[in-house]
Amino acid sequence: MTLPRYPLMIASLLVSFSTGMVLFSLLHRQEPPPSQAPAIHVAPETQDSKTLSDLGTPPDWSSLDAWQDSIRRDEFTRLLQEVFCLGSGWRQWIDITGSEAVIRTRNGDPKAAYHLRFLQDGKSHAAMHTWHAARELPPARPGKPLANLHIALDPGHIGGKWAQMEERWFRMPGETPVCEGDLTLTVAGLLKAKLENLGARVSLVRADAQPLTKLRPADLTEAARASGEASNPADIKKISERLFYRTAEIRARARLVNESLNPDLVICLHFNADGWGNALTPTLVGRSHCHVLVNGAFRDDEIALEDQRYEMLRKLLGRSHDEETLAASRIAESLATITKLPPYTYNAFSANARNINGNPYLWARNLLANRLYDCPVVFCEPYVMNSRQDYARIQAGDYEGERTVAGATRPSIFREYANAVADGLVKHYASLRPRR
Ligand SMILES: [Zn+2]
Repeated sequence: MTLPRYPLMIASLLVSFSTGMVLFSLLHRQEPPPSQAPAIHVAPETQDSKTLSDLGTPPDWSSLDAWQDSIRRDEFTRLLQEVFCLGSGWRQWIDITGSEAVIRTRNGDPKAAYHLRFLQDGKSHAAMHTWHAARELPPARPGKPLANLHIALDPGHIGGKWAQMEERWFRMPGETPVCEGDLTLTVAGLLKAKLENLGARVSLVRADAQPLTKLRPADLTEAARASGEASNPADIKKISERLFYRTAEIRARARLVNESLNPDLVICLHFNADGWGNALTPTLVGRSHCHVLVNGAFRDDEIALEDQRYEMLRKLLGRSHDEETLAASRIAESLATITKLPPYTYNAFSANARNINGNPYLWARNLLANRLYDCPVVFCEPYVMNSRQDYARIQAGDYEGERTVAGATRPSIFREYANAVADGLVKHYASLRPRR
């Protein structure tokens, strides 16, 4: 566990300790808020019989050959222990010798192993990735700090007619529904224009309120049944929907990002939420907050799955962590300054989050998107859609300039979000790109 260094954070950790588990369970991308949670349980991926994640495929371990002799033993061990693994369970799967890491590749076969040789002292190795870190870009053109850069924007969720199924939708009686997938798409459109104006090439991972995956819940009924979690038709329906909108959809986005777009950076755009209860009579809360995520913090039971173990090593060897953290720190800083929101704080004993560098706004988590996308990924979670303040701002919609909303004069929530991310990106690249 990384100990917090900021007094503010220690204070918030203490405050949040009692409420932490509740807040944590409500946090976005976790299961739905308790009052609307279906009466099913997500498969504990700890069952001995389970060797792959939902809709996962057996990994091609030979694809790690590209990273033979690419990383020193001490760096490999540091990243494994301080970034990627929360517990010590990895020792069951990875044996670090003087010259190599021996990685178990098949759970049922202790002898099946992949041998990764470490880079020896005195030797060097060129960076092995298709994306460009800020330091690897050519000097920027005047007035175009993001020139030569390809950024992909991933508006979280699907939205539109799928939003209710996704459980990222609620409506106060007589008012406009709040639908996260549509909010993130609005931010993505505004941000795309801003970044292009700053010189970047920008791709949208999703450009409308339709899924990328060709699969639909009906195609996933067998997979839902095979999960062993469902005991009745209602549960099977619920699980097949979740496999569609979350798992199959993000896997389809990962294929687009890794096989077609090949960007230098992906920004995942989300709005957070607190438990709202019944979506038709939602509860509004007083508190809003903000945080940003990078990939890491794999749990022991996640590393015990063959595909996640492989994907973790791919992420580690791809060396995106440093760039991801540098960019995410700048974006978190700009979001904090511009939105004036306090940090969201995970429980000090969180089983699946790890603080990064003592920054109260920056955390590592193992999410499907930031694990599967090969390049650096910055995952943004500002605002609480059902906080009184942000709810009023969402109801006010997008507008130019400033208006008085929820007791203060300010830009639209969408423009504020887009401005903050763009500001963070400009600062990141301006500070690290080579100068002419
Ligand atoms: Zn979201």
